[in-house]
Amino acid sequence: MLQIQKLNVKAAILDMDGVLWRLTTPLVDLPGLFNAFSKNNIQVMFATNNGTATVDQYVKKLAGFGISVESWQVLTSAMATGYSLKKTFPNGGPIYIMGEKALHDTLKDFGFYHDTQAPQAVAAGLTRELDYNMLKDTSLMIQKGLPFYFTNPDPTYPTPEGNIPGAGTVLAALEAASGVKAKLAGKPLPFLFELGMQRMNTTPEETLVVGDRLDTDILGGQKSGCKTAMVLTGISTREEAEQWQPQPDLVIPDIMGLFEEV
Ligand SMILES: [Mg+2]
Repeated sequence: MLQIQKLNVKAAILDMDGVLWRLTTPLVDLPGLFNAFSKNNIQVMFATNNGTATVDQYVKKLAGFGISVESWQVLTSAMATGYSLKKTFPNGGPIYIMGEKALHDTLKDFGFYHDTQAPQAVAAGLTRELDYNMLKDTSLMIQKGLPFYFTNPDPTYPTPEGNIPGAGTVLAALEAASGVKAKLAGKPLPFLFELGMQRMNTTPEETLVVGDRLDTDILGGQKSGCKTAMVLTGISTREEAEQWQPQPDLVIPDIMGLFEEV
């Protein structure tokens, strides 16, 4: 019997960075992996806290690795931010955005646009062009009392060079400068997992969350009531996984471990 058959799930929601690849380097045989999912009749979705690329860019990146997916299968923390904003501002409108093009483009799909004159809220995410004036202007905006949304808390981002500053590093700077805690949107909040299960029409018991980070992927999966598998190709280590309570359902060296005979 395969590991994944033991878990008795119909669907998997996969993190990407540190699970499928590091930047542009695949971590396993990706076409082989997706053949294995389809052979076992497991539906697949992708949920990433990395909001610096749009859904279409992820579809293209996956296609570049020989994996054909549709845009409804990809969920990002920028989308989670859009949904979260929409709850408070159902008509969309002007907001102050500090982030990359993908955040602007994604929020635009939800009816929000960048405005410095009369914004209703501040929305921010990882900005790799970050400079002092951006931090200054954004923190002054937040201090006006506008609601402050931030895409995701991951402090670091795994690359072939090592772990580099992630969105959470920028989040810490803005929170320190403004004295205000952000409303977070991505994992570990259950939002992306709930949206994924809704789109696949599965229950939490039937759904496996796969990730490389205990404090976002695994915590979020557990909070959503899903089964969880942690891979060791990204951020969290086996030692950290052993300390984690409750334990993930599975800790595997890499995502191919789901299809190992046990
Ligand atoms: Mg990851």
